[in-house]
Amino acid sequence: MIKKAILVLSDALRYDVAKANMGYLGHMVEYKKASLYKIVGELPSMSRPMYEAIHTGVPSSENGVVANSIVRLSNQPNIFRSAREAGKVTAAAAYYWYSELYNRAPYDPIDDREVNDKKLNIQHGRFYTQDEYPDTELFNTAAYLVRKYSPDYLLLHPMGMDYHGETYGSDTKEYRNHAIYQDAKLAPLLVEWRERGYTIFVTGDHGINADGGHGGTTPEQREVPFFVIQPNGMGRGETGEFISHLQIAPTVLSVLGVPIPKTMIHKPLIFQ
Ligand SMILES: [Zn+2]
Repeated sequence: MIKKAILVLSDALRYDVAKANMGYLGHMVEYKKASLYKIVGELPSMSRPMYEAIHTGVPSSENGVVANSIVRLSNQPNIFRSAREAGKVTAAAAYYWYSELYNRAPYDPIDDREVNDKKLNIQHGRFYTQDEYPDTELFNTAAYLVRKYSPDYLLLHPMGMDYHGETYGSDTKEYRNHAIYQDAKLAPLLVEWRERGYTIFVTGDHGINADGGHGGTTPEQREVPFFVIQPNGMGRGETGEFISHLQIAPTVLSVLGVPIPKTMIHKPLIFQ
């Protein structure tokens, strides 16, 4: 059995907006070829704290990344490090804060933008620094990394939902239409990656409110989806179940067949 995983972490992808506007993912759920869970996100509903909570399975009060302004390497076991130490190949097409958390901090926009280095936690990294960097360019970069390096773990982290939500607010055509756009651009890639044997997760780090803000505790700011697509095509449809952001890291490592560090105290999701 192939043990590979891709995490699509769509920045500021709200649960309700994803469910209402991402029709290909909805189709997969409707036909029970995917599973949909709801995540009531960790706090604070800010990006860098959530990147770290998701990749370490450790809450921000313990991992110390409690604000976007904390610029340093992660000091916790995390998906990238555990996978690399187990001899797996890691990759990411992601915002540069990921490079700062798991490769090098602070970020050098020239030296760190494209890396291929087995010694780094993110071995094949492609990073961007502008919030308006087009998602479709990033999706193609991720698709290239898959074809070229067949990574065991790939993170795809587009910023488009966050950019449109912060610019226009969440109750706007711009934010909602961007969910439709992401779904349509992702659909053929999800088909290709599933055929290549990947288990694929689609989620968000936090939501966003009508003011274009996040960081707080309301459902709009913290509820995100967790879609699961398995290579065997089996899903449970809409499960109605709640899971934690902190389950993502042990779940990914479980799919990869990598030992789960003791710091990840949440149980991984187990799939058929
Ligand atoms: Zn974010």
